[in-house]
Amino acid sequence: MSDWVLLAAPQLRPYACDLCKRAPRGPIIDTRQHHVLPNGLPGDRIYICKNCAGQAAKLHELIAPDELDEAIDWRMRIEGLEAELADRDQIIADFYTASDVSRTTIEQLAEELEAVTGRADYLQSQLDRVSEVASVSPEPEHISESENSPYEAEIADMEAEAERKGYAAPRYIREPDEDDADSD
Ligand SMILES: [Zn+2]
Repeated sequence: MSDWVLLAAPQLRPYACDLCKRAPRGPIIDTRQHHVLPNGLPGDRIYICKNCAGQAAKLHELIAPDELDEAIDWRMRIEGLEAELADRDQIIADFYTASDVSRTTIEQLAEELEAVTGRADYLQSQLDRVSEVASVSPEPEHISESENSPYEAEIADMEAEAERKGYAAPRYIREPDEDDADSD
């Protein structure tokens, strides 16, 4: 009896309790005894599961029945919580894996964006150069033509009005040659 040990799980055949023949989850007592085969050689190891040990303890009144039930209940609840924690650990691990993946994706996208931005800057500078070259083309002649001024008609009206009233037409809006030829 003194060399009984509690193991996390049975290590030898039949990997189950010798009394109930079941292999419940959780620790099991290894009696370090074994059955003896007809030929005298050692046979199956003798394990005792918690339920059977509890039954024995109850019958021997080593433990109050309700205390045992409570202990088994607690044990089951703890095992349930341990399983839940393991599930949660897995979820957290999955989450970290997923977030690593998305961080890598974000870094790749940032690099691509930088490359595209650089390319856009280059194209913009090329476009600016092309615009510069285009702006020294013969276009300005057309722009400087007085017929195209939106104020030309208005100026003519003002001149006519001034003449009718006997005023000198305002100098600042008149062409120098016209001004000299006309009123002086
Ligand atoms: Zn058993």
